[in-house]
Amino acid sequence: MIITQVKTYILDVSLKQRTITDSQSSVDSVEFVQVRIDTDEGISGWGFNWNYSKGIRAVQAIIEDTYAPHLIGEDPFRHKTLLRELYYKNHFIGRVGISRVGLCAVNQALWDIRLKSVGLPLWEYLGPCKDRVKAYNTDGGWLSWSVDELITDMKGLIDRGFDAVKMKIGRPDPREDYYRVKAVRQAIGEDVKLMVDANTVWDLKTAMVWGRRLEEFDIYWLEEPLCPFDKRAHAELAKSLDVPIAVGETIYTKYDFRDYIEMGAVDIIQADCTKLLGIDEWLDTAALARAYNLEVAPHTNVQQKLHVQLAAASPNVNMVEYCYESLADIWEDPVRVVDGCYTLPEEPGLGCKLTDHILETCRIG
Ligand SMILES: [Mg+2]
Repeated sequence: MIITQVKTYILDVSLKQRTITDSQSSVDSVEFVQVRIDTDEGISGWGFNWNYSKGIRAVQAIIEDTYAPHLIGEDPFRHKTLLRELYYKNHFIGRVGISRVGLCAVNQALWDIRLKSVGLPLWEYLGPCKDRVKAYNTDGGWLSWSVDELITDMKGLIDRGFDAVKMKIGRPDPREDYYRVKAVRQAIGEDVKLMVDANTVWDLKTAMVWGRRLEEFDIYWLEEPLCPFDKRAHAELAKSLDVPIAVGETIYTKYDFRDYIEMGAVDIIQADCTKLLGIDEWLDTAALARAYNLEVAPHTNVQQKLHVQLAAASPNVNMVEYCYESLADIWEDPVRVVDGCYTLPEEPGLGCKLTDHILETCRIG
């Protein structure tokens, strides 16, 4: 099989719901880059990546100018060799950031070709180790919600079958976080898992003081309390608190995860396939975490379908994040949450193609 063409699309997809906020971002639309790799045997592989600030055109340029010319004429089944060659092409531009975001989309498209050629979805190809993948929900806990909205939305999620929910913290006055978390815990009762997410906004002192105070509400994990590059501060925090520390959505290599783990700076690994170098590096990271008996809880915004499949084949994944529900139907053959658990895709392939309607109506380049 030979690669004949690499085509890219960039899109801006509206959330079709209230603008959502955390301590760092305000989001009303998501940008996508979608990659299609065609072959001479009629199989096309699809991959994607995403961003919710503007700038996805830069990713498209990297794919079209650097990766596509290298791929055309190559055998897609050599995907590990090809990815290593493409990785080194960006030696002086840099191997994280835009280079990596684009290469991850290429990684997915090459996996999609492999999976379609053998007629299996990813989770079946990897070998499942569980029948169901549990979902936890983040959509009820945005920082811009009032306390009444938080409680109404959280109760609505529990009525739908979710028994694990997450809320944002990191308001300018941490006392507000304290009272918001207290109100939610009182409203949802003791039996629902509750996680809190500061989106990296706290400094170490704030995290030590207010992380300790929040522990009285039986928090399942404290997510991204600090700047993700400051591993030493995470290690100090993890040593001083009892609540587990979760990081991963702004960690971009398995080597950084290794260092976090070895420094005792993390308890829950939130590896995200779209931030790492795709399927392969995510699997490496999950295996690394397993060797240290650590739970992996994949971060997602729009990429649930990828992570549900990886979770089904990974013994140390207990649940996968669910949010941005208004975008659930942008994918062909979308996954659903029923009674708090995800359905698994049945179509062969990776399942990362946006619908033709989205590709036509939301395209910006
Ligand atoms: Mg988060």
